[in-house]
Parts: sequence; C-alpha cells; structure tokens
Amino acid sequence: MLGTMMDFPLTLQHVFDRGTRLFPDREIVTGGLGERHRYTYKDFARRVHRLASAFKALGLQPGERVGTFGWNHYRHLEMYFAVPMQGAVLHTLNIRLFHDQLVYIINHAADRFIVVDRSLLGIVQALQPMLETVEKIIVVDDGGDCEVGDALDYEQFLASGNEHFDFPRLDENTAAMMCYTSGTTGNPKGVAYSHRALTLHSFGACLSDSVGVSQRDTVLAVVPMFHANAWGLPYAATMVGAKQVFAGNSMAPDRVLQLMQDERVTLGAGVPTIWIGALPLLQAGKYDLSSVTRIACGGSAAPRGLIDAYDKLGLNIVHAWGMTELTPIGSVAVPLTELDSADPATQMDFKARQGTPVPGVEARALDSDGKEVPWDGQTMGELVVRGPWVAASYYNDDRSAGSFTSDGWFRTGDIVVMHPNGYIEIADRTKDVIKSGGEWISSVALENALMAHPKVQEAAVIGVPDEKWSERPLACVVPRPDFKGSVKAEELSEFLAQQFAKWWLPERYLFLDELPKTSVGKFDKKTMRVQYTDSTKAVTA
Ligand code: AMP
Repeated sequence: MLGTMMDFPLTLQHVFDRGTRLFPDREIVTGGLGERHRYTYKDFARRVHRLASAFKALGLQPGERVGTFGWNHYRHLEMYFAVPMQGAVLHTLNIRLFHDQLVYIINHAADRFIVVDRSLLGIVQALQPMLETVEKIIVVDDGGDCEVGDALDYEQFLASGNEHFDFPRLDENTAAMMCYTSGTTGNPKGVAYSHRALTLHSFGACLSDSVGVSQRDTVLAVVPMFHANAWGLPYAATMVGAKQVFAGNSMAPDRVLQLMQDERVTLGAGVPTIWIGALPLLQAGKYDLSSVTRIACGGSAAPRGLIDAYDKLGLNIVHAWGMTELTPIGSVAVPLTELDSADPATQMDFKARQGTPVPGVEARALDSDGKEVPWDGQTMGELVVRGPWVAASYYNDDRSAGSFTSDGWFRTGDIVVMHPNGYIEIADRTKDVIKSGGEWISSVALENALMAHPKVQEAAVIGVPDEKWSERPLACVVPRPDFKGSVKAEELSEFLAQQFAKWWLPERYLFLDELPKTSVGKFDKKTMRVQYTDSTKAVTA
C-alpha cells in the first residue's frame, strides 16, 4: 500500500501552539465594569501552562470534568485551553440557567471542580449542598464581594503551577469541552465536543466563505463563553493569532460599543438582541465603528430591518445559523457571486436568510415522510445536518435516539425552505411554527416583518389555540420608546398585509414594555405562550 499522510492529531494543542508561537505579541483585552485588562499571547501561554500544571497537582485526571461559571474574560480563555489540553473536559455552565437545572447538569456531568467568578459565587454557594461530585471551588476575583470561605483563589492556584508543563499528546477524538443545550423542555441535554471537532470548526470559522476569522482581525464575541463555545470564536481567533477582546462582566450596549471603538474591533459577534439594543446609540452617532468590517449575528433570526438599519450606517451584518449541537456554526449568509447583479432588495432578502452550509456541514430539508424537499424556496421541511463537528449523540442521555434520522443525520428541529442557490431560510422551530387550518404560518417571517416597521423595536409572534383554525398568531410587540402608546394594531396589520396572505395576518396584538428572553437572549416563546395566550390586554386589529 502506498504511503499517505502523517497521522497528525487535530487537537487544541495545535490551535494553541500556532497562535502563541507565531504571534506572541498580539493582545488579549478584557473590558467590563472594572479596569480594562490587557496582556499578550506570550503572557497568556505562560499562564495556561501554569494553570494546567496546577490542575494536575490538584489531582485532575484525564476525562474528568471541570466546570466554569463565569463571564467572558481572559481567565475563562485560559480555562478553555488549560483543561482540555491536559485531556480533561471543560464544562461551561450557563450562569443564567434555573437553579434546579444547574444542579442537574453539574451532577449529570459529574463536575469535580468548578471555577467561579466571585461576582457569581453566591449562586454556586447556594447550590453547593445539592452538588454530588464537586470537591473544590476555585474563585476568580472579578471585584465581586461574596465571602470566599474555603475556596481556592484562582491567581494563587495558578501561581502554584509550573510554567514549563508538558501537555500530553492526545487522541483527536478525546472530549475537550462540554455544553448543555438551553431552552428545551425537560432537563438540558449535554453535548461533548471532541478536540477534532473544535479544531476543524476553527478552520471552518476562518474560511472566507464563512466568518473569515484572520490574523488581521480584532475579534469581540459578545456571545457568552458558556454558550456553544462562544461560537468557537476564541479557538478560531487563537489559532490565527487575532487580537481578542472580551466584554468582561458587562454586555450592556454602551460598554460593548465603547470597547469596539477603543480597541478597533474588526469582527463583532452576537445575538440579534445585542445589536437591536446597540442600534439607537449608533444611530445617534455616539460611537466610531469605522474599524468594523462585519458583525456576525445569529442564535435567532436576525430581522431584515435590523440588517438594513446597520447597512445604512455602513455596518455589515453577516447572518449565521448554528446550534449547540454543531459546535455551533452551521451556515453563513455569504454574498454569492450570482447575487452581485441582483437588485438591492433581493440582496437584502438573502442577507436576512441563514445562508449556505459552511464547508464541513451537509444540510438537507426533509418532509414528514423523511423525503428530501425540493430547493424551490417554498416547500418547508425539517433541516437535518451531518458533519465532523455535528454531535453524534447527547452525552449519556437516552433521549438521543429521537434526534437522529435512521441513517444518522441530526434533526435540528428547525423548519426551513431551501432556495435554488443552496441558501437555507429558517421559517421556524418545529415547536413554534403556527398551525392554522392545516397549513403552517412562519412566526419568524411575521416577526421579522414587524421588526422592519419604523415604530417597532421588538416583536415575537406566538400561536394561540383557536377553536376553528386550531391555532392563530398573536403578535407581541415592543414599540420604540417614542411610539409607546401611540402605535396602533391596524397600522401594523396594514403593513403586514403588503407582504403576507390574509390568513397569515395576526388578528390580535399585545403591546408590551419588553419580551421575555431565554438565558441566552432569545425570545422565550414558551413563557410567552403561558403568559400571553389568554391576555385580556390584547387588542384586535
Ligand atoms: P442554541 O443551541 O441555543 O444555539 O439554539 C439553536 C437554535 O437557535 C437553532 O436550532 C435555531 O432554531 C435558532 N437559531 C440559531 N441561529 C439562528 C438564525 N440565524 N436564524 C434563526 N434561528 C436561529
């Protein structure tokens, strides 16, 4: 047999070595409520070695889990590498989960140690009596004032380690990270990411037909580091030696924009809520974001009106779709050559869709019989995916079976249409799509249209039970501050009528000050259905 290539493992060791050796002087900056912290990749590398060695001395064994309970900052980044590169698994805990869910996931993952920001320590201390496997808490002092008790101090712990720690050579299929899904019914489900998946995903994030992370970038992921590996951006950015900026313990729009301006950020990333919140400040001309070349936006549908408003400010929103189960990037709305000659409205239509699957991810849409639906931009089907960074099962969970097709594709639970040019357009979650008279109404399409109305800040549409049609849409609308109390249901309905068939139009509108959000900033439609279905405050259009 002819020889082929080296058996070179795709592990985070390579991601780390490349960035820190080639770009030792590049900066890593952390903002937040306290003083801004900055150091170089060289400092970062030394500290990662020390931290890993300290964990080894503490008795951390290969395969064991270490939890983190923290904001986005350089110490969290150190954990992202020090724990997986020694063969253990970093379990990022969602700081906004309900307490019983936190107890469940910490016990289910059997975390042995937890590294906690001091400002969040009170939450973990309250849970401690219910935690079955946690032996030691390590506290990152972020200026919080909670009593530390017998917990270890992160800095002292790190200082006890050896700067010349030798990382073992790992099999690329070793688990490196772990994250539980949020917003599902029942207990969260765990996803364990292998080194191979995270490394290939980093390559994927660096492709120009994806997010295109490069050494020329300054990256600010306003995505929590506890949610889907902050979209894999800390790994991609480290691999290419990009300057990295973290928002610290505040994701408030003014602080985020100040950081972007001061640090000359080129690539920002976050859920639509962040950019919706930042828009009025940008429109008031308060910040100079001339360094920004693109803002990756996903996690829930980025409304066309939002993309358009940013476009008018010279800011390019790149829409991306992903899932915790996909490490998480699945598709990115890249500007296809074929669209260059299209009129601006068509180009904007495509920017507002979820884009083409990134190389590495295969995508199809299936009808209820499991047959692939045509790429006609009309027929809805469930999106299924496969690829080297798609989960093959949930961690130690017998609910896995229902999430995969018989031939091994992952069922995303997203209802989509496929366009002839390969663009995916998400119409809804299977749970949120509104079933009216045997047909489906896309809640996402309606809310996107509503959010393009000049008097609307945010809108979510939910299906409420209806005797005749089974379900009908109810529009929950947050008006822009200057139109509070004056915007009328009739004008919104007329606005929608220009784009949708009559039977799609919501009969009822509910005007609110804010919409409930999930722990990761998405519209919490489950809560909305409970709270608003019978609301007597809804008005008829
Ligand atoms: P999570 O695992 O919490 O990141 O949630 C994944 C889900 O978020 C997907 O299955 C979609 O329903 C939704 N989602 C993510 N990105 C987008 C997007 N760009 N447009 C619409 N929905 C999205």
